[in-house]
Amino acid sequence: MTEFSMLGLAPRLMKALEAQGYTDPTPIQAKAIPHILDGRDIMGLAQTGTGKTAAFGLPLVHQLLQIGTAPTPKTARALILAPTRELANQITDNLSGFIKGAHLRITHVVGGTSINVQIKNLTRGTDILVATPGRLLDLIDRRAISLSETRFLVLDEADQMLDLGFIHALRKIAPLLATPRQTLLFSATMPKQMNELAQTYLNNPIRVQVSPPGKAADKVTQSVHFVQQTGKTALLKRLLAAHPGELALVFGRTKHGSERLKKQLEAEGFAAGSIHGNKSQGQRERTLQDFRNGKIKVLVATDVAARGIDIPGVAYVYNFDLPNVPENYVHRIGRTARAGATGLAVAFCSPEETDELRAIEKVMGLSIAVASGTRPAEAHKAHKPQPSKRNGPPQGSKPRRRFSGQKSRQRAAA
Ligand code: AMP
Repeated sequence: MTEFSMLGLAPRLMKALEAQGYTDPTPIQAKAIPHILDGRDIMGLAQTGTGKTAAFGLPLVHQLLQIGTAPTPKTARALILAPTRELANQITDNLSGFIKGAHLRITHVVGGTSINVQIKNLTRGTDILVATPGRLLDLIDRRAISLSETRFLVLDEADQMLDLGFIHALRKIAPLLATPRQTLLFSATMPKQMNELAQTYLNNPIRVQVSPPGKAADKVTQSVHFVQQTGKTALLKRLLAAHPGELALVFGRTKHGSERLKKQLEAEGFAAGSIHGNKSQGQRERTLQDFRNGKIKVLVATDVAARGIDIPGVAYVYNFDLPNVPENYVHRIGRTARAGATGLAVAFCSPEETDELRAIEKVMGLSIAVASGTRPAEAHKAHKPQPSKRNGPPQGSKPRRRFSGQKSRQRAAA
């Protein structure tokens, strides 16, 4: 097994790792760090929770520590682009832990907060700039920052960046960077557009991956119930009651719907909790802790709130509502069958959701086994159940992407 001491990181970083309680590198760290230290471009396929922030953050900080001089005013040596404010904050927090006590400066610029404070923070220049694309473009327009000395670029959660329509921002930002530069691209899924992105912005990249899309499906037994929307709650209660001791994660589409469902479950005596955008960070953390230690057996969550949560004992993932973006199904079912365990992913598909189901099956490259009800478009062959094929997506398959709500989400993020 690889140890941090074998990776050649600066002693200062080794101390920071110890302080953070990291003992061994995660697989993505063990694979990516040596190549990044060699100066190679990386295309990393890894989900949140795999330790990908440190996989790019540690070798980045290591290289910046070697420079030894302060950055020029209004410039950044490294740029990390993230699709959402939350992710940008999380990256900044994580990296701040690595540079504690060092001479490096980290600055983060996201929408929704005062641009004047950010302009002021950038006047002295920064070693690391963590940004959402929209706010960064604003600051460039106002000449608060120049990227002409930026020799490191990280694109984090690049698939989400594509979903949110940030490709245009990236087209404007990339030519402003210094050349040559090192570019590191990380993504949880690999839609076809990602290869185009890699060809445009990366130079002979090394591909590192720890959990290829569809791999979760190898260990997860998937099934779908065709059910009316109004029958979903009763079906869920029945299925939960059949496995009372097991941890179950239930995905809802909306904050209100998820909260309502949690209350209905509680009223029936289930130990249930919920996490979604209307809950404070403190509430979310407490609920997750209760779920982790089994005080709560059923956790109802929305996609955004559930991003990055890593709970080893989850036996069942229920897709109470199917996600609009098919890749989110991959994220969701990846919450079970962790660390070599097996898991069950159960989807509820109402007649209004058959398009979503088709998109999911296309991305996964399989036909999900029917547990109850009848597959609407295939009613005539209902007597011949489709065997569940457990391979990854077929070569060249085109995931269908949905862009509903793109503009508002983009505004919220930028
Ligand atoms: P990430 O995938 O970067 O969001 O990281 C997920 C979580 O794992 C974060 O809370 C990190 O602090 C933590 N983490 C990352 N690398 C390690 C490691 N080598 N050992 C222990 N925890 C880690």
